[in-house]
Amino acid sequence: MRQAGPWLRAAEGAMLLGPDGVPAPTVFAEMSALAAATGAINLGQGFPDEDGPVEVLDAAVAAIRDGVNQYPPGRGTPDLRLAVSEHQSRWYGLEVDPDRQVLVTAGATEALAATLLAFVEPGDEVVTFEPFYDAYGALIRLAGGTHVTVPLTAPDFLPDEDILRAAFSDRTRVVLVNTPHNPTGRVLPDEVLATIVELAEQYDALIVTDEVYEHLTFDVPHVPIATLPGAADRTVSISSAGKTFSTTGWKIGWLTAPPALVDAITSVKQFLTFVNGAPFQPAVAAGLRLPDAVFTGIAAELSAKHDLLADGLRAAGFELMRPDGGYFVIADAAPLGYEDAREFCLQLPELVGVVGVPVSAFVRPDHAAGYRSLVRFAFCKRRPVLEDAAARLAGLTSRA
Ligand code: PMP
Ligand code: GLN
Repeated sequence: MRQAGPWLRAAEGAMLLGPDGVPAPTVFAEMSALAAATGAINLGQGFPDEDGPVEVLDAAVAAIRDGVNQYPPGRGTPDLRLAVSEHQSRWYGLEVDPDRQVLVTAGATEALAATLLAFVEPGDEVVTFEPFYDAYGALIRLAGGTHVTVPLTAPDFLPDEDILRAAFSDRTRVVLVNTPHNPTGRVLPDEVLATIVELAEQYDALIVTDEVYEHLTFDVPHVPIATLPGAADRTVSISSAGKTFSTTGWKIGWLTAPPALVDAITSVKQFLTFVNGAPFQPAVAAGLRLPDAVFTGIAAELSAKHDLLADGLRAAGFELMRPDGGYFVIADAAPLGYEDAREFCLQLPELVGVVGVPVSAFVRPDHAAGYRSLVRFAFCKRRPVLEDAAARLAGLTSRA
């Protein structure tokens, strides 16, 4: 046991350290390590196992060769900011000034971090749905905020309107929305988005929306909350190239917001990473300008991959909740006799050579009831890999 000096208090206070003083690994890192150690198929951490559009890759290689290798401008290269602005207009009819309303960040994660650090003070409340992406909880704690959650419960993973309304108060500084949602795959219906905007107006809260899976929806449109009446003036919209272009390792994200909000977030961002990814910025600009058919093709392929994995999971006896979008499907292991998904996920490599992630990792320990037997499987993998995983999972014997 290491001596935990008082200088560890901040990290301890944010509950980022394990009991022995080393960083508590995220569930994604833990399960990827398990997959690597056992040789199991990794359907845990959400990253694709093949490259995205070749135009995007070629543009990055060309940029490196052309000497685009030094610090880019603080807000991002003007051309990427223009491409983001064009993208918002082309897909959603949102007009944003590329010079004053766009900020390029080190992935969506830095956009979230800089935004929460810029606006949340100790005592402020931040409302999110639960389950929530792990970084939300950690970043809210680092900002000193109080995390208030609204449950999304199986099987439909929609919020109860009364609970959503009750989550807001005069202390609510930010409501942090994520649609399409990780881990449930739910695309929040327009009525829910409208209620959020109404509540944000009533309590003068900022809306922060994480839309990294914006182009990965299956037969349902993605509606950015910023397009709703009254929302744009109080909304920070966040996205990332990682999911759309299968470049999760590049860490190019961006946000769009009213100029004063972008200025405040930039003031924090410049001391987090300063800047990042110079040669990847023109490549992402090229990606954002690809024809519509490329984007719809990516979603169609992912939807087919969902079906492939879902067939295997259903054959194995899991009960499934169909996602509207994103990389993941939630499977209930209870019908197979596994009530504790974490224990099940730790055994799964040995049982059939597959790795998944327990949904309990996305909820607070005291809120785990209702999620205990749920497992998240990623289907952003090559078809033969999914076929193999589906066949392996279909061989699971029920212990029910
Ligand atoms: N938000 C959500 C909902 C995510 O699933 C992820 C990661 N996959 C991120 C943010 C982080 O995105 P980035 O890698 O661009 O930081
Ligand atoms: N967002 C990815 C997921 O949900 C993982 C990213 C990470 O490992 N931090 O699986």
